[in-house]
Amino acid sequence: ATVLAIETSCDETAVAIVNNRQVCSSIIASQIPIHQQYGGVVPEVASRQHLETINWAIAQALEQSQLSWEQIDGIAATCAPGLVGALLVGLTAAKTLAIIQKKPFLGIHHLEGHIYATYLSEPTLNPPFLSLLVSGGHTSLIYVKDCGKYETLGETRDDAAGEAFDKIARLLKLGYPGGPVIDQLAQTGNPQAFALPEGKVSLPGGGYHRYDGSFSGLKTAVLRLVQQLEKNNTPIPIPDVAASFQETVARSLTKRAIACALDYGLSTIAVGGGVAANSGLRKNLQAAAAEHNLRVLFPPLKFCTDNAAMIACAAAEHLSRGHTSPLTLGVESRLSLAQVMNLYQQG
Ligand code: ATP
Ligand code: MG
Ligand code: FE
Repeated sequence: ATVLAIETSCDETAVAIVNNRQVCSSIIASQIPIHQQYGGVVPEVASRQHLETINWAIAQALEQSQLSWEQIDGIAATCAPGLVGALLVGLTAAKTLAIIQKKPFLGIHHLEGHIYATYLSEPTLNPPFLSLLVSGGHTSLIYVKDCGKYETLGETRDDAAGEAFDKIARLLKLGYPGGPVIDQLAQTGNPQAFALPEGKVSLPGGGYHRYDGSFSGLKTAVLRLVQQLEKNNTPIPIPDVAASFQETVARSLTKRAIACALDYGLSTIAVGGGVAANSGLRKNLQAAAAEHNLRVLFPPLKFCTDNAAMIACAAAEHLSRGHTSPLTLGVESRLSLAQVMNLYQQG
């Protein structure tokens, strides 16, 4: 199926057209420069920017694809989770297009998009597989049983992986977003310069998953390290701190992902979310997977962070199974992956 999808859950106004797993066009208008002056995303500013950019982005996506509306089988938008005002802009635009063009409409769970981003470079990947989802707001191990059927096996109990990168970058006064800058600086640093805690959690507790992790202890350890260096008037070796931090995050994620895949007998790990772009994680996970005869797959770099191609890809999967959403569908700031099938009427 060929789907036009809109993604406006946070600070990217994105529109893409995808034919199953093949990207026909992908427009990503990032608001990062606008939010940078505030050190993070300001929700009201994000909604307004989406509103100002959305029509242009839709027109661009269509033009770039060289497709006509007749060749498009469905129209989708991210409907949850995310910033409510931001989500509403994309969802309303998608519904309007669906009505005008008389096409099926689909609401898509943002994390399902991140899961399927790997499909854009892997025509043969199919469930079951383990998804390691590492983004700005989530750090999860998800057992992908089928399209729409997910079981969360692990989460973070505090900070998400991307959030940890962003917080450490703020601490080191490197700006926002932190992941790409830390990744870059880590290239020239020594990952063994400082021993940092991986953030073990006691397993398993009431209501917790077996492969839960934690990054707040690591964040505090880096804070203490920086404070100690400042107290001693030692210049902070930023590349070494960045490299040691990144290495610790990568090791911690790798350990849990590999253990989970082996325990559940899943031979493929597909990584998704902004932190899937991280070179340290890629290296660590590739090496460990090879050691255990597991296959690890990453999305193309440009489809790790938020984009609409991954949303269109997830929508194409659903549409090919006859899943469509009612036009009364609303947005949700939070929605668990276990609830994804509530977004569809089957027929
Ligand atoms: P969510 O998907 O959970 O709602 P989000 O959409 O904000 O959150 P993404 O767009 O998937 O998150 O990813 C953004 C995050 O990825 C930011 O925290 C950013 O710092 C991080 N990130 C991006 N590139 C890298 C990199 N190379 N290394 C580490 N982190 C990175
Ligand atoms: Mg973003
Ligand atoms: Fe995201």
